[in-house]
Amino acid sequence: MSQGVTSTEVFAQRMARTREAMAERGIDVLLLSVGLDLPWLAGYHAMPLERLTMLVVPREAPATLVIPRLEAPRVVERPEIFSMLPWNETDDPIALTARLVTSVGARTVAVGDQMWARFLVDLLAHLPTVSWVRSVEVLGPLRMRKDDAEIAALRAAGAAVDRIAAQLQAGEIPLVGRTEAQVSADLSARILAEGHDVVNFAIVAAGENAASPHHHPGSRVIRDGEIVLCDFGGTMNGYCSDITRCVHIGTPPADLAAAYAVLLEAQQTSVASAVVGTPCERVDAAARDVIAAAGWGEYFVHRTGHGIGMDAHEDPYIVSGNTLPLAAGHAFSVEPGIYVPGRWGMRLEDIVVASDDGPDPMNRVNHELVIV
Ligand code: ZN
Ligand code: ZN
Ligand code: ZN
Repeated sequence: MSQGVTSTEVFAQRMARTREAMAERGIDVLLLSVGLDLPWLAGYHAMPLERLTMLVVPREAPATLVIPRLEAPRVVERPEIFSMLPWNETDDPIALTARLVTSVGARTVAVGDQMWARFLVDLLAHLPTVSWVRSVEVLGPLRMRKDDAEIAALRAAGAAVDRIAAQLQAGEIPLVGRTEAQVSADLSARILAEGHDVVNFAIVAAGENAASPHHHPGSRVIRDGEIVLCDFGGTMNGYCSDITRCVHIGTPPADLAAAYAVLLEAQQTSVASAVVGTPCERVDAAARDVIAAAGWGEYFVHRTGHGIGMDAHEDPYIVSGNTLPLAAGHAFSVEPGIYVPGRWGMRLEDIVVASDDGPDPMNRVNHELVIV
C-alpha cells in the first residue's frame, strides 16, 4: 500500500512525538509488527505472514526494523528513522527482537494491538520480567490528530465514494432483479475505479436485511418497493473512506419516510454538534436524543460513530461514556441508524473532521432518501 502523503520529515516528527509520549508513560520500548501503527510511524506495512517483521523502538536508542531478508527489498529505507536488521530463514527473529529489548534494559514494553499471539507468546518466554502494555496508549492520541496531508487524503477518499453514491442516487447502478452480492461487487469495482487501492467493505442490504447493521450481502434478490442500504468504503493512498446512503425503489411507505426524516435530522444535528471541545459522547447523544424523542430509540442499536484514518475503525469512538473532548484534526464517522427487525433498516453516514472552523464533512453527496 502506498504511503504517498508522508515525507521522511513527517516520520521524523512522529518518531520524536512518540518518544515524548513513551517518556510520559514510562514505556522503554515500543514493538510494532502487523497493523497500521508501523506504517504510520515508519512508512512500512508489514506483510501479515508467519515470518516476523518487527520495528523495535527504544525510547533512548535508535530504532531497528527486524525483517525477513526476502522482504527487505520492499522497505523504503529511512536511515534517519530506523536501521534494518534482516534475518535469514534459519535465524530466530524472536530471539533477535528480545536481544534488542534487553540490550536497553527495558522494563516496560508496549506492543501493537494486531501483533499476532504466536509472536507475543514467544516474546513472553524470552522476556519474563518485562511488563507489557498496549501501544495504543502511546500512539492512539497521536494518530487521532490528523495533519493537513492526512485530512487531504481523507477528503479525496470521501469525494471518491461521494461520486459512487451520486451514481447510486441517479439510478446508474442497477438494483431491481440483481442480488445484493451482485450490487456489492458492482460497488467494489467502482471503489477501485475511483482510485482506491483496496475495497474494505461494500454492504448492500435490501428490505428486511437492512435491519442487520453489518449484513453480509448475499443471494437475496432486490425487489421493487423496498429500501436498499449501501455502506461502502476502501483505502486510498493509505487513508480510508466510509459512507452509507439508502435509496428507495419507488415511493416509500409513509412510516418509513417519516422515520427517514427523523434519521436525517438526527445525523445532521449530530454533525453540527461536532465542534472542537465537545465530548465525543455528546455527539453520540445529539443523534440519539432526536431518534429517541421520535419514539425510535430502541431501534438505534449501535454507537453513533468511530474514528477513521489509516484504519477504518480507530479512536476516537463516538459513544456514550467517551468523555474525550474533540480536538482539531479528529476524524470520525457520524452514522446513526434505525433498524426494525423483520421489516427494514436505515443508516446515514458521513465522515467528519473536527476543525477550528467547525465540523468539516468529508462527504457532501445528497443526504435524502432518494427514490430510484
Ligand atoms: Zn459498521
Ligand atoms: Zn460505513
Ligand atoms: Zn462507519
